[in-house]
Order: sequence, then C-alpha cells, then structure tokens
Amino acid sequence: MPTRRKFITSSTTGLALLAAGRSLEAASLPPAPAKKPLVISTWDTGLAANLGAWKVLSKGGRALDAVEAGVMVTEDSQNCCVGLGGNPDREGIVTLDACIMDDQFNCGSVAALERIKHPISVARRIMERTPHVMLVGEGAQQFAVAQGFPLEPQKLSPDAEKAYREWLKTSEYKPVVNIENTGNKKTVGPVGGANNHDTIAMLAQDGQGNLSGSCTTSGMGFKMRGRLGDSPLIGSGLFVDNAVGAAAATGQGEDVIRIAGSHTVVELMRQGLSPKAACKAAVERIAKIKGAKARDIQVCFIAVNAQGQHGAYALQKGFSYAVCDQTNQQQLIQSEYLLS
Ligand code: ASP
Repeated sequence: MPTRRKFITSSTTGLALLAAGRSLEAASLPPAPAKKPLVISTWDTGLAANLGAWKVLSKGGRALDAVEAGVMVTEDSQNCCVGLGGNPDREGIVTLDACIMDDQFNCGSVAALERIKHPISVARRIMERTPHVMLVGEGAQQFAVAQGFPLEPQKLSPDAEKAYREWLKTSEYKPVVNIENTGNKKTVGPVGGANNHDTIAMLAQDGQGNLSGSCTTSGMGFKMRGRLGDSPLIGSGLFVDNAVGAAAATGQGEDVIRIAGSHTVVELMRQGLSPKAACKAAVERIAKIKGAKARDIQVCFIAVNAQGQHGAYALQKGFSYAVCDQTNQQQLIQSEYLLS
C-alpha cells in the first residue's frame, strides 16, 4: 500500500518531475525504467480509486482485476457523476455507462443501465460471459439481474435530487467546464443548469507488464433521455493495445466520439509519440474541429504506454489525474492544457 501522498499542483512541474529530466514530448522514447505496477485515473476522485486498484496490483494481481476494483470505489461513493448517486437525465432517471478492456483485446460495455450499482462489473460480465461486447438499456438490466446483480430502488440520492430540482428551474443544457474542481462534489453546481461531469477512467499496468482499462459514469447531468457519451464506447472513452499502450478520456463525450479519441491516442503512441504528446495531439485535433466553440467544452485524455510511462493533456485548465506506482506515492498531477 502506498504510505505517502504527494500532491503536485503546478501545471508543468509535476510532469517535469515524472519525466526525470527527460522531455515527454520526444517523438521517439528512450527505454524507460519499469514503473510496474502502475495505475492512473482521472480527476481527484482517482486518488481513492487508485488505492482500490493498488490493493490488487500490490499483491501481484492482474491489471484487469485492478481496474475493476478501482473504479468500484468511485461507483460506491456519493458522486455527482459516477454510480447511482449521480445526476439523472432530464426525465429524472439515473442511467449509467461503463466499459472495460484487457490486454488481449477482450472488451465489454454497458450503456443506459438503470438501478444497478456496479456497471463496471456488468461490463466485465458481458465481456466474459456473452458473445457480445455491448448491452444497453432494458436488455442490459435483464442480463445483470440474471447474473445476480441486485436491482436497486429507483431513487435519486439527496444530492442528485437537489441538483435535479435546481436544473428544472431552467431546464437549460449548459455544460460548465471543470465543474469537478469546485472542491465540493456534493454541490449541485451553478444554479440554472450546469452539467456536472466527472467520469472516472482508469488505466493500469500490472507486474507482468500487462495493461487494462476501465471507464464508468452517469454521463452528462440532465442529458436527453437515451443520450450516450464516449464513456461506454470502446475506442472513444477507452482503448487498450497491450503492445503499444492504453488511453482513456473524460469530458464532453460527443467531441471525444468525433475523433474516436482513445483509439487515436493509442495509434499516435504506436507512431512513437510519448503518452503526453499523443494526448496533446488528440486534444489539438478536437480544438481544430471545434474552432471558437472549443472554449465552451472540456476534453481530457490520460495514457500509459507499454513501457510504463504515463501522461495526460486537456483542452482547458483544471484537469488533474491521479497516479499510484511502486515508489509508494500517490500523486495528483495537474495536466497541461491547450487553451490559455
Ligand atoms: N465523458 C462523459 C460523457 O460524455 C462525461 C465526462 O467525462 O465528464 O458522458
């Protein structure tokens, strides 16, 4: 277990320290000392989630088991944007999206799932026990119940209830970037329709050097009923190629989908870019597509390559990602970003 928490708050210093004097921008990387095992995840909620994953990794467990156990911590917590305590859609119903991918291109995904506490485990069950990759809505819930997942009451958490009532006053869809970093996950966000978002995406490399990833969310708060974002989509919210690396996304899902974001980051690493440079190139692609509208959204990527180097990049200021590795440190690293 990590014994020490180290928080790095400067937007550039953290990554510079981790790079140990080397530029992570380098197009082709020198061999790096192995950091195995390693787990990284999005936002400050990733700190607690990483500890859940570390319990598995530190005992020599598989990255796949680690990324499931890790994000279950967040699904269990009261959070605006992950699990059954999350904000509902505009009809007042919480719908959950999740996906998981291992080191062998096995993947599972669940979307628009209602009343099931751990969508990430349902996604894994789909991967392991069905011939399919993705189940959605009612069928996904039927599958989950048949697999023994309890059906929870259809009920909003007190925080989500409050947020929904506030939202109903205007019913406006007005995403606010980095609402995650208000420092109070239990607040409803600015009155008048702010859409809190705070997906947890996690990437791990185990002691064998194998990579896996997971992603789980209640999606954009007060979304249209039936709306899916990037988070349950393999290739958008998450992608793993064990020979190259793994990547995951958080932020405005529609714009991650537009560029098949996580797959793009992995392909850029295949071409020799460092994890951070690959994330940056994907963010730049989105910025170019969006033009002036890029200022209205937040999009962020995290990535790990097969050598165990990690990095991140965001469109706007405010994104952080949590890292836990064998040096017994928990770090929260402020990501660099494109728009100043
Ligand atoms: N990517 C998620 C979605 O679009 C939301 C988020 O990460 O903030 O549903």
